[in-house]
Amino acid sequence: MAGVLKAVITGGGWSGVSAALRAKKAGAETVLIEKTDLVLGAGNVGGIFRNNGRFTAAEEMKALGAGELFDIMDQCAVHTNVDFPGHEHASLYDVNTIEPCVRKLLLDSGIDLMLESHVMDIVKKGSDISAVVLDDGTTIEGDVFIDTTGSSGPMGNCLKYGHGCSMCI
Ligand SMILES: Cc1cc2nc3c(=O)[nH]c(=O)nc-3n(C[C@H](O)[C@H](O)[C@H](O)COP(=O)(O)OP(=O)(O)OC[C@H]3O[C@@H](n4cnc5c(N)ncnc54)[C@H](O)[C@@H]3O)c2cc1C
Repeated sequence: MAGVLKAVITGGGWSGVSAALRAKKAGAETVLIEKTDLVLGAGNVGGIFRNNGRFTAAEEMKALGAGELFDIMDQCAVHTNVDFPGHEHASLYDVNTIEPCVRKLLLDSGIDLMLESHVMDIVKKGSDISAVVLDDGTTIEGDVFIDTTGSSGPMGNCLKYGHGCSMCI
């Protein structure tokens, strides 16, 4: 019988959190590596959800058995079913309370959460990735590697295009 597979997910934003929960539910030993001291990434600066077509997406996820993150967003919502320009029936979660709730879910689910751990490199065996390498030289081996490091670019972009701040803070 095959052993338990190990999933190594790099980047603890909403994507990485979701990937980690799915991997764990599928039976994998799961490690989520995040370079900051918070999960949720850019999700800590914007909280609009269930707006427009996302309402259906949220309900679909719940119906498919992957609704635990939407349940937390609903619990942390400070506004529900509001309309404003460009957004209909939106909810907004409280960015000050949601991170600890999501972090607790990850830990309660048995996910190995590594905060303040910056992935700098990979190790390859042939054409396959066999490990990621952290900035302190630690290697984390695994069977499946998922990159959810986001696409918004480094904070340098805020300096370059936003005079020190885009709109987050
Ligand atoms: C100002 C602002 C407001 C927004 N408002 C909303 C909104 O109201 N509603 C909405 O739905 N969307 C909103 N968005 C978009 C939404 O926040 C993003 O699409 C979403 O959070 C992206 O999630 P992600 O997990 O893909 O990436 P990210 O949130 O970028 O997460 C990537 C994570 O990877 C980590 N990481 C990166 N490199 C490494 C590495 N080498 N090693 C370890 N960790 C690493 C980062 O620290 C980060 O935590 C907003 C975005 C911004 C910037």
